[in-house]
Amino acid sequence: MIIKTLKINKKLIIGVILLLAALASITIYFCFSNIKILENITTTTNSDIVSEKEENAVKKDFIKWVDFNVTSEAMNLTAKLDINSHTKNEEIKYNWIELLAYLACKNGGNFKNFKKTDLDVLVAKIKDGETIESLTQNLKFYNYYYESYSAVLSGFIGNYSIETEKPKNQNSDNEEPQENLDNTSNFERKYGVKAFLPIAKNYSFSHYDDFGNSRSYGFKRTHLGNDLMGSIGTPIVAVESGVIENLGWNQYGGWRIGIRSFDTKRYYYYAHLRKNHPYAEGLEEGTVVKAGDVIGYLGMTGYSTKENVNNINVPHLHFGMQLIFDESQVDSPNEIWIDVYQIIEFLKQNRSEVYMSNKETKDYSRK
Ligand SMILES: [Zn+2]
Repeated sequence: MIIKTLKINKKLIIGVILLLAALASITIYFCFSNIKILENITTTTNSDIVSEKEENAVKKDFIKWVDFNVTSEAMNLTAKLDINSHTKNEEIKYNWIELLAYLACKNGGNFKNFKKTDLDVLVAKIKDGETIESLTQNLKFYNYYYESYSAVLSGFIGNYSIETEKPKNQNSDNEEPQENLDNTSNFERKYGVKAFLPIAKNYSFSHYDDFGNSRSYGFKRTHLGNDLMGSIGTPIVAVESGVIENLGWNQYGGWRIGIRSFDTKRYYYYAHLRKNHPYAEGLEEGTVVKAGDVIGYLGMTGYSTKENVNNINVPHLHFGMQLIFDESQVDSPNEIWIDVYQIIEFLKQNRSEVYMSNKETKDYSRK
């Protein structure tokens, strides 16, 4: 009898303890969430104290991280499908970014073991009448990959105008305003790869995947780009059109130039340009440059707080690409730099030819 009551009491006591514990955790949870709510209220109301950047970071939902490892093989195959389907005006028009985003869902965002057959399976499904919409509606991360890869690649393929040598009747209905139109030039509308390798055509270079390697100048940090080794003076061209955002000396990059794409999602960083004559003529912050235009010359400046100093051992172009989904990510610890090694491999197919356009200043221009 005594034992029985004790047992009941034990159960009762355990029950009460559990109930108290539950109550305590609920109280703690609400206390903390209230603090959070209060914090949010103070952040958004004290707009004169909190910067606009921070406010946006609190309010907006944007992509915080991208690990880009799409192989050049996957880019080449999907680009071919995209370009051919548009230039040949095929019934099914492929979008390479959609194809890559679908494949990323299937391989968990890791293209290391990408095989052409993965893409063949997808293409067969689309040819059978399925659409990207129907194929991806239940893929949880499709939108993430689509948005991420769009941020990386949306300036690489599409319509572009290219100057042709044969004079034709001038088209007055060109969609984009054209500069330097004269009687001997004509601009042809094309669809295809419109981004360029940063090293001008007929100039050799070498590189390997050095993204994430450690660097020790200044402070211990990782290498956030790809080094393209070449000869001093090699003309460097803009990969994509955009606006020059930064131009001048930086103790790490030396003479460097930073160009933002028109859609503001990509920031291209070209560093260690040539001592004494780093940039192409007439460039300054705010200048618009076109894809394939000469922007500067390969060198070995940098790693010095003093301007115009060669402190890099091997002449090379440091090429980097930062993704910006929200302006709060600029100049912050949350910058997203992606591995551009595979992008350089992909861009080898499209190089800009240049010539010496000014014998006095030894400046080059695109052909
Ligand atoms: Zn580098």
